[in-house]
Amino acid sequence: MSSLSEEADRPRGSLRSRAAALDAAHPLPPVAVTEFPPLPDATLYLDGNSLGRLPMRTSARLGEAVTHEWGHGLVRSWEHWIDLPSRVGDLLAEGFLGARPGEVAITDSTTVNLYKLAHAALRDGLARDRDVVLTDAANFPTDRYVLAGLVRDLGAELVVLSLDSIGGPSAEAVADELRRRSDLANRLALVSFSHVDYRSGALADMAAINRVAHRAGALALWDLSHSVGAVPVDLTGDADETGTGAGSGADLAVGCTYKYLNGGPGAPAFLYVRREHQKRLRQPVQGWFGQRDQFAMAPEYDPAPGIDGFLTGTTPVLGAIAVETSGGLLSEIGIGRLRERSMALTGWLIDLTDAMLAPLGFTVATPRDARRRGGHVALRHPDAYRISRALTEQARVIGDFREPDLLRLAPVAASTTYTDVWDACSRIRDLVERGAHLRLDTRRSRVT
Ligand SMILES: *Cc1c(COP(=O)(O)O)cnc(C)c1O
Repeated sequence: MSSLSEEADRPRGSLRSRAAALDAAHPLPPVAVTEFPPLPDATLYLDGNSLGRLPMRTSARLGEAVTHEWGHGLVRSWEHWIDLPSRVGDLLAEGFLGARPGEVAITDSTTVNLYKLAHAALRDGLARDRDVVLTDAANFPTDRYVLAGLVRDLGAELVVLSLDSIGGPSAEAVADELRRRSDLANRLALVSFSHVDYRSGALADMAAINRVAHRAGALALWDLSHSVGAVPVDLTGDADETGTGAGSGADLAVGCTYKYLNGGPGAPAFLYVRREHQKRLRQPVQGWFGQRDQFAMAPEYDPAPGIDGFLTGTTPVLGAIAVETSGGLLSEIGIGRLRERSMALTGWLIDLTDAMLAPLGFTVATPRDARRRGGHVALRHPDAYRISRALTEQARVIGDFREPDLLRLAPVAASTTYTDVWDACSRIRDLVERGAHLRLDTRRSRVT
């Protein structure tokens, strides 16, 4: 690292030539070059963990779906739209989630799916008299709000762990809480965390946490919004006691498709229900898309067997088609390859931060061990909000700000080069050195 900071002090070209050498040695996959051409005005997009870019083929496929399937086919197109939830679910299961066919469907939003699965776990989980849900204070807001509302309505209890802000949830923290509160041994119904922390980017040890949850007689529900498409997940494989099993042994999961999966704004989220639990668990929203033999229009609700029973209402078709097309593209590249490239790019960003940005007051708020982080890097700076705005407005570097003092940057594997990362750091350095952000006021805009 010291060698990089020495280089940063030398004429400004030398780290850039190292970036060019890295790009020559580790080029983007050819299909990614075609699908994600450079953005207009040399814009550097490092916010694909919030809204993923639009691949060329997804744009073309959506145009065709709008013109032909909707425009001409109209209601007749439902014939091949009707099975989109499970068809795209299977694609995600195989390409990204390590799940079996019939365990994943796309439907609703992540928020609604989390509600449905947490409700099912509390009502019909391993033991009906269990009434405690465990999460952590740093979990994504929607997760905390949903769980808090659910326990209020069902007369259950939410235990919220306060954890180290960089490291994220751990098996030790769950085990400590179980030791501290002996009543949880008979009361814990559900453990629910995000796999990758939306602020620090910390990657939780899913298999280890699942083992602790299972030993305590609880189910585990994961939010994979910041992992799917960035970090390979193996939901179904069993985790053995030594932790060397390939899989994580998860019970339930949800996640977004518009971040690393490039499904587009408001694309339907996915849910995962382990096959062995599908019979026991009933979701609370008894809609017609979850009904057995839907078009028989039967008088009583009778849930469809399997993952279809977890659907509710009409599929957002255009979003589902976008997820299918973009997900197909990414699975062609392969999640293993994407993850390898992502670890290298986030490592490069951390190295450049140490060399170029640390002297300006930035510190790395993301685990430095690549195996312990997801696809983004958070940089802490007391003026992060104004810097983030100035970067967007004046330097065409699109990252985002997260309270209270974090600038998040995601060098997404399928569309970012090593030179892009250097360019972004160089623009950040120039902007902060000039004090361009100091002319903005500190009032927050509605969307950060
Ligand atoms: C982005 C994100 C969500 C978003 O949920 P929506 O219902 O799509 O708004 C949920 N959870 C996590 C962890 C996220 O990062």
